[in-house]
Amino acid sequence: MGARKVYDVSGGPLRYRDAPRREDVGASAEDFLAMLDGPTVFRIPGRDRTRTRALVTLLHGNEPSGLRALHSWLRSGPTPAVDVLCVVAAVAAARRPPAFSHRMLPEERDLNRCFRPPFVGTGGVLAEAIVRMVRSSRPEALVDLHNNTGHNPAYGVAMRAGAPELGLVTLFAERVVLSDLTLGALTEVLADELPAVTIECGRAGDPASDAIALAGLTRFVEAVRLPLDAVPSGFQVFEEPMRVGVRPGVRLAFAEAPAVDADLTLTSGVDQHNFSLLEAGTVLGWVRPSIQLPIEARGAAGDDRASDLFEIVDDRLRTRAALVPIMMTTDIRIAVQDCLFYVVRDRAG
Ligand SMILES: [Zn+2]
Repeated sequence: MGARKVYDVSGGPLRYRDAPRREDVGASAEDFLAMLDGPTVFRIPGRDRTRTRALVTLLHGNEPSGLRALHSWLRSGPTPAVDVLCVVAAVAAARRPPAFSHRMLPEERDLNRCFRPPFVGTGGVLAEAIVRMVRSSRPEALVDLHNNTGHNPAYGVAMRAGAPELGLVTLFAERVVLSDLTLGALTEVLADELPAVTIECGRAGDPASDAIALAGLTRFVEAVRLPLDAVPSGFQVFEEPMRVGVRPGVRLAFAEAPAVDADLTLTSGVDQHNFSLLEAGTVLGWVRPSIQLPIEARGAAGDDRASDLFEIVDDRLRTRAALVPIMMTTDIRIAVQDCLFYVVRDRAG
């Protein structure tokens, strides 16, 4: 059946198309991506047409698990429990060769930092259109599927620790990071209006991450009732994230020994520490002799706490306090464009 044209997207950055039929989505996610000519939204009609759930993916062009899951699901010719509004966002970045290698186009801002006003530039205009689309469809819940670039287990990111948010995350993962950071992310601006969570499905390019995305997506769209009412047990909750990045102008390297041209060299296996407790005194890498602390760490309050968490001893960067790092990347571009990692506190610990 034709999509209900309840949205006015004429002239906007978001293209509304009819629900794709199973034979029209191509054999692979790459084929499907090639059929999209820009940020796209469509609605898959469900058995109960009075309710809607929203699925957003590809806000970052180098994070394909959500698109792969969506493609696999569409190939099955689904009839979901309720209507599903699907938004595929950073199509141009994802399509820029080699496919799925660009977080955003080089000339553009990170789309998942554009959801707070002012809505300027290509990313801001698109972000505003996505939020307007989601609001107008009045979804009972929203999930936004992402990948990490480093080794991480699957986890959710939520602004609230209510039963609805934790219930949504359990469809995909057993860990959640409660964030109070103001980054301009999609789920951040919707958190007061509906249960909305970001799911980090694991490392981009890992088939295990794609499988987690597909299994969770299937649960999300097929459940007659979402598990939004009871706080799940056996759940790991991390909170008070601080964003750790290199100071402006610092030359960064990942290597097994101090790199000649670098101010800071992090050991290349540093992302193996994600979600594990690092004791005080753990060496993360090397710094150029006589340099000041080359990283900064900021929580919701905005002040730099790096010197509480890290120190330089014998030209080595090491932890000064016990801490749990997450989302560590060993991709230099991501580390500079976004951040090195986040530090969180284990609520149980
Ligand atoms: Zn992402």
